[in-house]
Amino acid sequence: MSNERMINRISVGIVYVDGPAFEINDDEKAHILAEVQEAITGLASNEPRANLTGVYSTLSVTLPTFVPWEGANWPGLSEPFYRSIDDALWSGTTNKIYFFRGSEYIRVDPNNGWQADPGYPKPIAGNWPGFPANFATGINAALWSGTTSKIYFFKGSEYIRVDPNNGWNVDAGYPKPIAGNWPGFPADFAAGVDAALWSGTTDKIYFFKGDQYIRVDPNNGWNVDPDYPKPVGLGWDAEDKWRDPALTALGFPVGSAGVAQLTDFFQGAVAAQFGYVAFFTKMPTAWFAYANSGWPKVVMRRTSGAFDSWTSLDSIFAHETGHIFGAPDEYASSNCVCTSSHGRFFTEVNGNCDNCATTPVNCLMKNNTLTSLCAFTPPHIGWEAFLDTIDAGVHTYTNGKLYMFQGAYYVRYTGFDLDAEYPKKIAGNWPGFPADFAAGVDAAVWGQPNSRVYFFKGSQYVRVDPAAGWAVEAGYPKAIAGNWPGFPADFATGVDAAVYTPTNQKIYFFKGSQYIRVDPNNGWNVDAGYPKPIAGNWPGFPADFAAGVESAAWGEPNERVYFFKDTRYIRVNPAAGWAVEAGYPRDINVNWRMPFPAA
Ligand SMILES: [Zn+2]
Repeated sequence: MSNERMINRISVGIVYVDGPAFEINDDEKAHILAEVQEAITGLASNEPRANLTGVYSTLSVTLPTFVPWEGANWPGLSEPFYRSIDDALWSGTTNKIYFFRGSEYIRVDPNNGWQADPGYPKPIAGNWPGFPANFATGINAALWSGTTSKIYFFKGSEYIRVDPNNGWNVDAGYPKPIAGNWPGFPADFAAGVDAALWSGTTDKIYFFKGDQYIRVDPNNGWNVDPDYPKPVGLGWDAEDKWRDPALTALGFPVGSAGVAQLTDFFQGAVAAQFGYVAFFTKMPTAWFAYANSGWPKVVMRRTSGAFDSWTSLDSIFAHETGHIFGAPDEYASSNCVCTSSHGRFFTEVNGNCDNCATTPVNCLMKNNTLTSLCAFTPPHIGWEAFLDTIDAGVHTYTNGKLYMFQGAYYVRYTGFDLDAEYPKKIAGNWPGFPADFAAGVDAAVWGQPNSRVYFFKGSQYVRVDPAAGWAVEAGYPKAIAGNWPGFPADFATGVDAAVYTPTNQKIYFFKGSQYIRVDPNNGWNVDAGYPKPIAGNWPGFPADFAAGVESAAWGEPNERVYFFKDTRYIRVNPAAGWAVEAGYPRDINVNWRMPFPAA
């Protein structure tokens, strides 16, 4: 996985794709790179613990023979007409097709390869006399029918019929609703079309809406043909027309395999943990900025003007980077829903979706704000917990699993393999946990004689019975003071870490630079002579670990004791004098089968 969490060094592999009439000059490239760097720096400022650093690589590809919109279903139109068409008209008089957009229209000749005639677009005004006033100011579509030799004008959900052989007058009984009079229309087309035409060549009728069109067969009950709607232009595969030649020019395979290899190429070159490719171009795309997290790629296109005048590039790139790392769109027109789950490492609903959130906030995935994240984005991009330490760890003999806790989340291991579908939230998965314990615990430990699991938070603790649905037992939480005989006063106010070692059947509690040893087989009393300093009693402890640890856990598969401090851990072998083994401390990152911020 090349982009699981937005942490540590991430490779941003920038590819500039240009060519004649699509040139990206050096100033623009410098601007793009600076904006991309601002995007990652801005994102990183939201969560310093993520240790997020961008490492940037750039490649330039020039495609000298690129032909824009080659392969379009309607060749020869100018680009605005590929974005949207207001209306179109087949004239039986001229045997030509007229596309309308705004105040202009383009004439297409079906007898000349369906290409646009030279000299177009032209203004509508002065060229189309006799329009009814209210339709003349706002026509959505016009259609000349070879069957009826009449012209149909569409506006909103209604249409009128004009008879050119009767002084171009509107027939009686109009306007009528589209719905019910044109069978098989998709609902959005019945609510209003952008353009319509009858073709004498195919004897079919074409309706256009946005970047899509449908085809109606008057000889088949005027029904819409199968497999429609289709895109007018190239749709999302507009990107394929320059991306694949660019990948080929760079020596990579085409398609998603090539982007994946290019990501690895960039990422490996800068020794980053995660990465993705960002294509910048002026060549046609279906949308000006988008991300495909599975490839993984971001595509950003300047449709007109220069890149260096695009000052919001940084925040938009940050938004798209959010997608790469698992964050969903939160703006209303994305059709987001609050109940959908997202995220690569953590899983969280889209709770800030503008369509359903009670009080949606402006933020990265809703408004492209660079340094404002809603509460749901951190879990989506992997920032919610397991950022700066492990709070608690415990091996439970009931099921032979190892649990690790951080903040409101926990993970579970079988052996030393991270189980699927973790991390999970403590809340809802550990029955009876008080709210403050569900928000995070200080320590956890297995109780061997009674086969219970103990969780500590501040001056209190709870006891869980795995044999009774893993539920917190009645009467808890209880105060440590008075219930753990012999605890020093400062340990009773809270502990940092706890671990049961089957080697000697003792429980160790750690607090700052001190530790105590409890004997469950002797009334759970603290052994004589404790507390003791960690330093000098645990051979090989690094100084920062001897000053205090944050969690400890028993590793059953190898019978070792693990201690965690910040983003690192050490391993102790009780069978070898309880000494820290060679090669430690190590980073939690990767060694615990999960990506973790590294120092
Ligand atoms: Zn988006």
